[in-house]
Amino acid sequence: MSVPQGKLVIVSGPSGSGKTTLVSRLAQAEPEQVWVSVSATTRPPRPGEQNGKSYWFLSPEEFRRQIQQGQLLEWAEVYPGIYYGTPRQPVEEHLRQGKWVVLEIDVQGAQQVLKHFPQATTIFVRPRSWEELERRLRGRGTEDEQALQRRLETARREWQQQTLYQYLVINDKIDEALEQLRRILHQQAPAAPSSES
Ligand code: 5GP
Repeated sequence: MSVPQGKLVIVSGPSGSGKTTLVSRLAQAEPEQVWVSVSATTRPPRPGEQNGKSYWFLSPEEFRRQIQQGQLLEWAEVYPGIYYGTPRQPVEEHLRQGKWVVLEIDVQGAQQVLKHFPQATTIFVRPRSWEELERRLRGRGTEDEQALQRRLETARREWQQQTLYQYLVINDKIDEALEQLRRILHQQAPAAPSSES
């Protein structure tokens, strides 16, 4: 695999951490530099979500075909029976163009990507405390109790893995979190192997 010229940035964090909003604010703040990967998923679209913008919404068969054809850089069963994955080709293309390619993926996916791109920058986003995260997830009120419990369980597992990341961004105030994220990304030379935290 050729050496990427851009910067690969992995952003993970539990559901309710606000990472999607943070990443879209980053893209607005750095429109020339940042490209945000659009993942594939087998979950159905939520109201307002557009195919090719929020996600590529695929049938399980199509998702499986993409895995078999090597079209996904990584993939994971994030919730029972629901798969998510990163299309490989656009990531490589934008890295070649020198972009900061942002992958908003779960911890399992992050580990897979690091095998191919050990120089990737890894960032974990979370609120100040577990209690705050739980409050946010319950406050959404969009899910039945069973779905909420599943989300909390996944969130707890992800929370426990935060030490695997190079950087921690506490997202209590979005503007401050955004500035912290930009500082992290600007301080690094393109594609530099980065081991410090
Ligand atoms: P949601 O269904 O709420 O949009 O996303 C659920 C979770 O799936 C997110 O927290 C995110 O970490 C994870 N996710 C989204 N896209 C990908 C992907 O392409 N690969 C992996 N491994 N996880 C993803």
